[in-house]
Amino acid sequence: MKTSLSLLADFVLPRRCVVCGRTLLPCERHLCMLCLEDMPRTRFAGVRRNPMAEKFNSGISCEEYEPYACAAALFHYSADSPYSNLTKALKYGGNLSEGRYLALMLAGELKASPLFSDVDAVVPVPLHWLRRWKRGYNQAEVIARVLARGTGVRCESGLLKRCRRTASQTSLDAAGRQDNVRGAFVADRKVIDAMLVSGVRHLLLVDDVFTTGATLLECYRAVRTLAGPGLRISAATLGFAG
Ligand SMILES: [Zn+2]
Repeated sequence: MKTSLSLLADFVLPRRCVVCGRTLLPCERHLCMLCLEDMPRTRFAGVRRNPMAEKFNSGISCEEYEPYACAAALFHYSADSPYSNLTKALKYGGNLSEGRYLALMLAGELKASPLFSDVDAVVPVPLHWLRRWKRGYNQAEVIARVLARGTGVRCESGLLKRCRRTASQTSLDAAGRQDNVRGAFVADRKVIDAMLVSGVRHLLLVDDVFTTGATLLECYRAVRTLAGPGLRISAATLGFAG
């Protein structure tokens, strides 16, 4: 019954591949088989020293608590590649279902990796409340919730707050991005204390795309200011623009 209904729905309103726009077959979800096959996966989750982790760690100065922070992304993001639609569809197109589908793929990689298998809390990069209200959702939170569910841990979306509005990072260079987000996030001491008391030891910061790492590093600093050596902090995103 469900199949015939979805066949009918496909006939009335054909679903299209997010990447190439081709009409999807009934068995395909969000991406056609060819685009899924050709997706430029990073496979960073299984590699400690990968380009994203190197970039992330280069922004952590004299980190006494953590010799090397882990970082992973699902696919290589390039603004001029049709694969950039994977995150644009979630962020600007309101395609939450597609975002969740990709996040589940990433969750599978994280769960299988010894670098991430002991993560016990997932924290999304927050949006300013006004932007969240306008968009109706926070794309990082959509991803984080799936990662938390997929790896069987909690999502702590109340830990970080964006305390001031920032311009879009898209048109800024590396230095501009850093200035734009400096001091933009605060961590809630009560939430972090409760997390530590309940045994959280490895926290995963989540965003949609990692470009210079400026946003995730600011979040890292906000959490690190309150949490001592008992907490490891890693990062995960869908796209890595490197
Ligand atoms: Zn396609």
